Amino acid sequence: MVSRVIPVEQFDLIIFGGTGDLAKRKILPGLYRRFLSGQIPEGSRIIGAARSEHGVEEFRDIVRSAIAEHVAPDKHDDDAISGFLNSLEYVTIDALGTGGWKELAALMRPSVVRAFYFSVGPSLFGAIAERLKKYKVTDDESRIVVEKPFGHDLPTAKALNETLSRHFTEQQIYRIDHYLGKETVQNLMAVRFANMLFEPLWNARNIDHIQITVAETVGVGGRGEYYDKSGAIRDMVQNHLMQLLCLIAMEPPYAFDPDALRDEKLKVIRALEPVEPDDIVRGQYLGDDEGPSYLEDCGNPSSLTESYVALKVRVSNWRWKGAPFYLRTGKRMRARSSEIAIVFKDPPHSIFGDQAGQNPNVLVIRLQPNEGMNLTVTIKEPGPGGIRLIEVPLDMTFKEALGAEADDIPDAYERLIMDVIRGNQTLFMRGDEVEAAWAWTDPIIAQVEDRANRPKPYEPGSSGPEESLILMHRDGRRWREVKV
Ligand code: NAD
Repeated sequence: MVSRVIPVEQFDLIIFGGTGDLAKRKILPGLYRRFLSGQIPEGSRIIGAARSEHGVEEFRDIVRSAIAEHVAPDKHDDDAISGFLNSLEYVTIDALGTGGWKELAALMRPSVVRAFYFSVGPSLFGAIAERLKKYKVTDDESRIVVEKPFGHDLPTAKALNETLSRHFTEQQIYRIDHYLGKETVQNLMAVRFANMLFEPLWNARNIDHIQITVAETVGVGGRGEYYDKSGAIRDMVQNHLMQLLCLIAMEPPYAFDPDALRDEKLKVIRALEPVEPDDIVRGQYLGDDEGPSYLEDCGNPSSLTESYVALKVRVSNWRWKGAPFYLRTGKRMRARSSEIAIVFKDPPHSIFGDQAGQNPNVLVIRLQPNEGMNLTVTIKEPGPGGIRLIEVPLDMTFKEALGAEADDIPDAYERLIMDVIRGNQTLFMRGDEVEAAWAWTDPIIAQVEDRANRPKPYEPGSSGPEESLILMHRDGRRWREVKV
């Protein structure tokens, strides 16, 4: 049984920005799915809090439409939907003003878990944190959940940490990186630390290199202007790709415990070497029949912001010296595909000779689509005659391995919100971890900004600029194909 549902304690979840895009696409549909599964106990409430003037019925209508649009039709259950909508409340509140705060405080109940989800722009985090305290909306057990981006660089991330820590302890702050809520990402830890097979090989003596790819087919679209202030390094590498790298590279924590795990991740970030100028390739997608170019999308013909980046990253410690991590992420690429590939070394000597053909073992952890794992193993091609070697996959697609139960695997946001209610911070980033990640990323960004090199153009539907292939070729390696 994979999806055993363990109900959480009764809670009140207050969503600041409850009428915004993230709330409508992810948070509220996810909460509905948890309600449907029976994980949310009766009496729990979800309170939308946003600037827009709405009555509770209007908010329920908004959420009803969000469920219709963002929850799979086979999960539309009229009774569950009306039960869920009945658990909703709404408060019109101004994060920067005084309106709505007393009303929100009056809604709070003692001895019920209180969580406050900041699904608003980061410029409002400080104002909300301050007012939550000032109007006595929170208690010592209350939790706050903050969305990305957590800072724009090290100074802004530090300032944000300082602001939040003025009102809340570190144990109350849940910095979300939804990549950590993905089933396969957690499975990566299970594969490493619950099996004897891989961990003894998990080092530079046996692993040649690691590739982490997060490819998207969509462009920046309507978010162009906002994205142009950020770029792929800030938007993806500093947080999501960094988290994946940490989980692969870290030492086994002494327990699956929030601080034990985060201590190990932090050590990895601190062991990252600065990235050399030759080890980074940035790109911008061109336009085609299906969409405008990046420069058109962002409305700035002279933009130097990257929509694609590939990096060679070295982890400077005993385990990884000599086995680099190659990271790449981009928009408008050939396929929507996120994967981690652990490429093992060739055997030291081939008894079958060069003609037999020998390829390294590769362990691929697929984050999307088709979450699962795949290990390529070399075997003999069947049939008479001499030995010719072929690669075959040992494939575990969760959908196939787990059948219908895979459909009930909670999405990343659902799992993470339930963890907030349980008070489990294991899959959330700690303040020092975020700062360390910016401390490594800032010089990379400063370096590319100083050189003011125009990012290399790449064809939409490709796997990025040519130069990123060279990044691998000069080391005698090749990127895996970007495919579904
Ligand atoms: P949005 O603009 O769609 O929604 C913003 C919400 O905040 C609205 O409900 C609005 O009413 C409310 N709001 C704005 N100003 C307010 C004020 N002064 N007082 C009270 N409420 C106010 O934004 P979004 O896309 O939902 O993003 C919210 C946060 O989540 C941002 O920090 C964003 O970076 C982050 N995020 C969004 C996504 C996504 O897919 N949309 C993904 C990851 C992170």
